[in-house]
Amino acid sequence: MVVIRGATTVARDDKEEIRKAVAELLEQIMNRNSLNRDQILSIVFSSTSDIHSYYPAKAAREAGYAGCSLFSAMEPEIDGGLALCIRVMLFVEKNMTPYHVYLRGAKVLRKDLTSVYNIAIDGPAGSGKSTVAKRIAKDYHILYLDTGAMYRACAVKVLEAGVSPDDEGEIINLMRDVSIDVEYENGRQKTLLDGRDVSEEIRLPQISMAASTVSKHPSVRSHLVEKQREIASKMSCVLDGRDIGTVVLPDADFKFFLTASPEVRARRRYNELVAYGHAVDFEELKEEIVRRDAQDSTRAFAPLRRADDAICVDTSDMTIDEVVAFVKSKIQEKV
Ligand code: C5P
Repeated sequence: MVVIRGATTVARDDKEEIRKAVAELLEQIMNRNSLNRDQILSIVFSSTSDIHSYYPAKAAREAGYAGCSLFSAMEPEIDGGLALCIRVMLFVEKNMTPYHVYLRGAKVLRKDLTSVYNIAIDGPAGSGKSTVAKRIAKDYHILYLDTGAMYRACAVKVLEAGVSPDDEGEIINLMRDVSIDVEYENGRQKTLLDGRDVSEEIRLPQISMAASTVSKHPSVRSHLVEKQREIASKMSCVLDGRDIGTVVLPDADFKFFLTASPEVRARRRYNELVAYGHAVDFEELKEEIVRRDAQDSTRAFAPLRRADDAICVDTSDMTIDEVVAFVKSKIQEKV
């Protein structure tokens, strides 16, 4: 069992405000910890003594959390304490590292958790995400987490086991005892599959499409998303992927979505692969990129999609330096 903490504030002591804030807090706790409602044993709320209009526990029941025991209590009035604050503790049947959630005015309560900041960079293959993310991480002295590498490592595992990337049943079995980890050496990410360094192997062209296919399966995603959130909760980092701003970290501090025309993206990938010494056919590569984007964008679970609050950058006619400068200027504007 784990215990997850959280808190939020309301603008006014008002029934609708309390219902909205409680539903939002619980939803974020559920999303960030990849929980489903059957895993919740009990939810305990406390609210500051300036809240009289509604019980947070009742608001939780109305938001659909009816299958567990719910309880609310009022806190004593403490001089200098935060006003209009609702605190929560969820007791959950799951073995995991808890991700505590502090929203709205309650962020000031846990500066240790909220001083960590995350930058989400999503987009299709070849849009420049990883190059930009690495540069930003270096300039800001924060970690770069390449989430695609984790899906690629999973594809290596599946192919080595002789399993079809489409066979979710067999993949669920494989995921039970696979270990996919990242380590850092001189600021560079090393991707480990069952303890073996697969950083080079995962870049082989045949792994790209297999990674896209294995990443359709919810069992694969939930396993890796949990790892990604755990890393992002502990230290400031820039993460690149397809679902960082929408699913992995829906309330990331900064969100960007990079795009470029298929022609430009294929050209960039081609140059990259040729520089690594791989013999590739440009037209085949372009066709693969288009197929992969289509598969990534149309999958049912966590598809490639721009988050509504992400800044979109079309990098087709921009140099890397220009994209990095633009992203940094948007970050500076917000801090
Ligand atoms: O970014 P990269 O090309 O290395 O990703 C390989 C594949 O992994 C993508 O085509 C996508 O299907 C999957 N992926 C994902 N979610 C992420 C990162 C990558 O589904 N956050």
